[in-house]
Amino acid sequence: MGILAGKKGLILGIANDKSIAWGVTQACKREGAELGFNYLGDMLEKRVRPLAESVDATLIESLDVSDDAQLDEFFGKVAQQWGKLDFMVHSIAFANKDALRNRFSTTSREDFRLALDISAYSFVACAQRAAPLMNAGGSMVTMTYLGAERTVPGYNVMGVAKAALEASTRYLAQDLGPDGIRVNAISAGPIRTLAASAVGDFRKLMEKSARGSMLKRNVTQDEVGNTAAYLLSDMASGVTGEVHYVDAGFHIGVGDPGIE
Ligand code: NAD
Repeated sequence: MGILAGKKGLILGIANDKSIAWGVTQACKREGAELGFNYLGDMLEKRVRPLAESVDATLIESLDVSDDAQLDEFFGKVAQQWGKLDFMVHSIAFANKDALRNRFSTTSREDFRLALDISAYSFVACAQRAAPLMNAGGSMVTMTYLGAERTVPGYNVMGVAKAALEASTRYLAQDLGPDGIRVNAISAGPIRTLAASAVGDFRKLMEKSARGSMLKRNVTQDEVGNTAAYLLSDMASGVTGEVHYVDAGFHIGVGDPGIE
């Protein structure tokens, strides 16, 4: 029996088989969970549906997290079709490419709003609709990055959004803790995905991270997935409000003389 046997969980944020959410999916499926998914628009449905069907998904619905009406409809369907929810994974972020290429000091109000709305507020928006469907033992996990707490060239407004996401994780954990619901974030090292391609000089970032990490390599989506499965399971019943690093020890080793 897997550590997620008998649990029903949502995994939000698959774009393709390179997505971190797909690594999470495979770990959760292996550990026995019944899974549900969203996709963003018709273009991505073609990619997401076959992936979701390959892990016997019992719920596959459209959801743009920037739209309250769609959020209400999506979680309404979860309530109707599943009745209860044991866990939710939020693996969603977006910023305008230009805002990541240009100088941070030139960030426009609209680019700031968009990045914060989709990459940080959407976790709160999903959590407030997921929590009423959860019993004690419920668990939520979101995906963050070291750029929240340290400056990383090219990460810019997304770093500000991740800082808000990490703070939101702590406040959600405080708020939902008395209901027995846990909320955690995983800070993953760089992984080549669709979203990552928007980050300026991502190749260089990956090289630096591998060189500066204790394991002298980058992490995989499967390694992030395994950590997520643990945090979503009852094995982590005493763990909440934390940022968990899956970055091969990079954040500890920053300052290593090998890193310019
Ligand atoms: P990805 O492109 O595969 O996933 C990002 C997802 O966000 C996509 O599925 C996209 O459809 C979804 N999304 C964007 N706007 C949306 C909206 N309005 N409504 C619904 N969904 C929306 O890339 P990924 O790297 O797997 O990103 C997943 C998460 O992991 C993000 O939060 C990202 O910041 C974080 N992360 C990524 C890395 C990395 O190096 N790839 C490192 C640390 C953290």
